[in-house]
Amino acid sequence: MVKEAQLLKGAEIAKQVQEEIKTKLAEIKSKYGESPKLVALQVGAQSASELYVKKQKDTAESLGIQYEFVLMDEKSTEADVIKKVRQLNQDPKIHAIIIQMPMPAHIRGNHILSAVDSHKDAEGVHVDNMGRLVLQTAKVAPCTAIAAVRLAESTGINLFGKEVVLVGQSKIVGRPAAFLLLEHRATITICHTGTAKAGKLEDHVRRAEVLIVAVGKPNMIPGEWVREGAVVIDVGINRVDGKTVGDVDFEGAKKRAAFITPVPGGVGPLTVTMLMKNVVQAYLWQKGEFGDDE
Ligand code: NDP
Repeated sequence: MVKEAQLLKGAEIAKQVQEEIKTKLAEIKSKYGESPKLVALQVGAQSASELYVKKQKDTAESLGIQYEFVLMDEKSTEADVIKKVRQLNQDPKIHAIIIQMPMPAHIRGNHILSAVDSHKDAEGVHVDNMGRLVLQTAKVAPCTAIAAVRLAESTGINLFGKEVVLVGQSKIVGRPAAFLLLEHRATITICHTGTAKAGKLEDHVRRAEVLIVAVGKPNMIPGEWVREGAVVIDVGINRVDGKTVGDVDFEGAKKRAAFITPVPGGVGPLTVTMLMKNVVQAYLWQKGEFGDDE
């Protein structure tokens, strides 16, 4: 009988991370007498983000993190929104801010993200925090990237010196995951459209001891490309014929990999929990718990 890959289920790891968060929150409560507060700022009603906002609220409240949803009128100007962000930045009772995207077309989302105090950046996407990630001094990092790396760590495999191949170099997944994995002294290869156009994607994927794919193209990595015994983290979420599938051919890959994330049920369920981890990190950072502020 062919031995199949062990499944890396996000919900199981999320439970572990939530226990770690609860321990930290109890320490915060006894030392500072309060719980961190996360504010989500949205401009205009958006049905697309409703589910995500509810998930944030439920996860925050189940852990004991205070959560407030602030909805601004969709006619608000960019200056109005930046003014609101600055108020949130200055409020000492607010420790973390998430900006719900997309913004209405007349507002430049990146300007709003830049206005957030980087110490209150719940999503770890502020330009200063990206810089800290490169310098290995980050306290918060993009949630999906932390989730993908945590799933790879959860295998118990020592990542030191491993061949890690990332397919996709986006600022929320591929690039930050690469820098998080460099901290393990893994050897990192980042593939993108240039790699594919040069006809070299298959060669790189076949070398991968850890393969992280975040592209957004259903089943673009054939199972036969997956190295025997590899760890496969599939971040992709694609809808095909009413079903959600990843970027990796799951059925083929699970016959070769040692560990693989299912889609759905892999990275996705861990992402909101990582947002809460960032909230706790942001709180501790503001309290000076990490020593030097760099
Ligand atoms: P982006 O569109 O920002 O980036 C896609 C990346 O894939 C780019 O770097 C692009 O290269 C690369 N790419 C595109 N085509 C190819 C190809 N043929 N070969 C190699 N690389 C290619 O995507 P995101 O990072 O935002 O999202 C990726 C996927 O992850 C999506 O399916 C998204 O839904 C999912 N996702 C899942 C999350 C979760 O919680 N599970 C959260 C966030 C995203 P180039 O840079 O050269 O253009």
